[in-house]
Amino acid sequence: MVHTITRTLRRYYLGVVFGCYLFAFTLAFILVFALPIGALALVFVAVMALIPVVAFWSALCAIERRLALCMLRSGSCPQCRSDSIAACEDLGGVAYRCQSCRGCFSARGEDVAVEIG
Ligand SMILES: [Zn+2]
Repeated sequence: MVHTITRTLRRYYLGVVFGCYLFAFTLAFILVFALPIGALALVFVAVMALIPVVAFWSALCAIERRLALCMLRSGSCPQCRSDSIAACEDLGGVAYRCQSCRGCFSARGEDVAVEIG
């Protein structure tokens, strides 16, 4: 459950951040004509906001990897929670592949994109 919430947050986090920056850009563009110092302040705030945004993103990825690794080591798939996870080595290293949902995870617990072919 916690892994699903963390995974969903990680999936949509960058889109939400991009939307916020797009809104800030639009607001700054309007402020250039109305209040130029406001646009300058908004640029500095946006640049300084990158530090906590990236820190939160890194923490989110680390938490998700840790939770996925715990589930993989217990033999269950982090994506569908079935017990049909198997280790495979055909992805350039040790990886885990779920037989029921065909999800693939690296040895570090990250989602791995698999080429179909
Ligand atoms: Zn699965």
